[in-house]
Amino acid sequence: DDRIARIASTIRVIPDFPKPGILFQDITTLLLDPKAFKDTIDLFVERYKDKNINVIAGIEARGFIFGPPIALAIGAKFVPMRKPKKLPGEVISEEYSLEYGTDIMEMHVGAVQPGENAVIVDDLIATGGTLNAAISLLGLNLNAGRVGVTVVECACVIELKELKGREKLGDNPLFVLVSET
Ligand code: IMP
Repeated sequence: DDRIARIASTIRVIPDFPKPGILFQDITTLLLDPKAFKDTIDLFVERYKDKNINVIAGIEARGFIFGPPIALAIGAKFVPMRKPKKLPGEVISEEYSLEYGTDIMEMHVGAVQPGENAVIVDDLIATGGTLNAAISLLGLNLNAGRVGVTVVECACVIELKELKGREKLGDNPLFVLVSET
């Protein structure tokens, strides 16, 4: 698909951000190119329309940029997966490991219902820890202990292949547009 090469060419790489030695993949330059941004959304919409997806779960913060236009186009609800203490209602939380230390992801109780089909959206998968936490949260459901939603797939614009995040997701499928080696 020749749209992929254009998308890849709009992603800016910034060395030593946020820490020395890290090559940061910056999608804000993709957003400055309306065709690349539209192509990005279109590629996900083409993949997920007519697949009975009820939920697009977007991961704070850049999953909030790509997730909502996909949700609107396929007629799914959008569920924000947020950093701790941001959501005002009752939440369920999942702690997960980072390179140094841990972080917490939260979602609102009742945002998803058993039997729904979800796609999780973020800009980038590195080690896979963040997506794994989101998969766990969506699979839980505190309402009467019922089973949570089915996570059909995780969808990212970029995969940092060398970090092998895909392996951390186990049997959960991952779809990416751009693989960085
Ligand atoms: P992981 O949990 O190690 O897979 O890290 C993925 C999370 O960190 C995602 O929410 C990304 O937005 C963020 N992240 C890590 N590295 C980068 C990067 O180079 N560019 C943009 N986001 C990044």
